[in-house]
Amino acid sequence: MLVIDKSRKAFKEASESIPGSVNSPVRAFGAVGGNALFIESGHGCYINDIDGNRYVDYVCSWGPLILGHLDKTVIRRVKDTLKRGTSFGAPTELETQLAQLIKEAMPSVEKVRMVNSGTEATMSAIRLARGYTKRDLVIKFEGCYHGHVDGLLVQAGSGATTLGVPTSPGVPQDYIRNTITIPFNNLDAIKEVCRNQGAKIACIIIEPVAGNMGVVPPKKGYLKGLRNISDKYGIVLIFDEVMTGFRVAHGGAQELFKVTPDLTTLGKIIGGGLPVGAYGGKAEIMDCVSPNGPVYQAGTLSGNPLAMASGIATLEKLKKRGIYKKLERRSKRLSEGLKTAASDAGILTYHTRVGSMLCTFF
Ligand SMILES: *Cc1c(COP(=O)(O)O)cnc(C)c1O
Repeated sequence: MLVIDKSRKAFKEASESIPGSVNSPVRAFGAVGGNALFIESGHGCYINDIDGNRYVDYVCSWGPLILGHLDKTVIRRVKDTLKRGTSFGAPTELETQLAQLIKEAMPSVEKVRMVNSGTEATMSAIRLARGYTKRDLVIKFEGCYHGHVDGLLVQAGSGATTLGVPTSPGVPQDYIRNTITIPFNNLDAIKEVCRNQGAKIACIIIEPVAGNMGVVPPKKGYLKGLRNISDKYGIVLIFDEVMTGFRVAHGGAQELFKVTPDLTTLGKIIGGGLPVGAYGGKAEIMDCVSPNGPVYQAGTLSGNPLAMASGIATLEKLKKRGIYKKLERRSKRLSEGLKTAASDAGILTYHTRVGSMLCTFF
């Protein structure tokens, strides 16, 4: 039997100072039952809780730790950077280096702006798309998550023409009036919306592999279809690659499925475990961001040297030949193992996988 007394106690103590004891809701284990684990340390593929239990860590901090815990190169790079200071409020060369590594992996990204989280990246990309097109409407898809951006916390209404409803109190109906939510993997649905309102739509934002509703791969030709529709109506196509970027392939889902978005949002892996987000794409669009252009976006800690150092070390390591092939082989083996184990236990499951993103549906 797993003993987690210290975690239970820590959870209770935290509850008096932190809402729900956690700083991000999934960590409370609410959806899966059980008590949240309080972590003492991680090493490689393992994570240790404060009761001294060791686990194989399949969560990897929800994505960023593709290299595992305490990767030597990453830690060394961060330590060396730390010696020179933690934040300057002025540019450093590290920011250019990380930008170059992203551009190299994703040719659709001609210019890129660093922020501090995936949420900030999607929020800023949407504002930019609106400023660039001078249009207000945004299309998003059911089941896709793009962070806790006000205008995206919306659920489709009961019919295609009814207004969406906010999925959280605190989001005014007015904030989501400009968000159209339609089903994922259904080209007819988006064609219909665009036939009626195409000229008013600023952007389409999508998780090219929907990782936030389990793992739902795009149907064959779906992403290409979105590209064609975007071109037809002058809509900015945004791939939210916060999860898929540097994960399903070195160049993300856009490399894997050979479809080029106008803007890409990134986070998770590009910070290698420190807080980093980024949005980038066509220079013509990115140059609309301040100070070059009129679309305002800023950040006191954006491009933070420690976070950049961690990201640089991570992305440099991911450039190594064969790394994604190895990841593919191991992920396939893990997914097949889970399938066999479930079937041996007489449990009916359905498995999806794109690269190292894998999911078991019960
Ligand atoms: C995690 C995630 C986000 C939000 O990133 P945060 O850093 O948690 O704000 C946005 N989009 C996708 C696809 C994500 O997986």
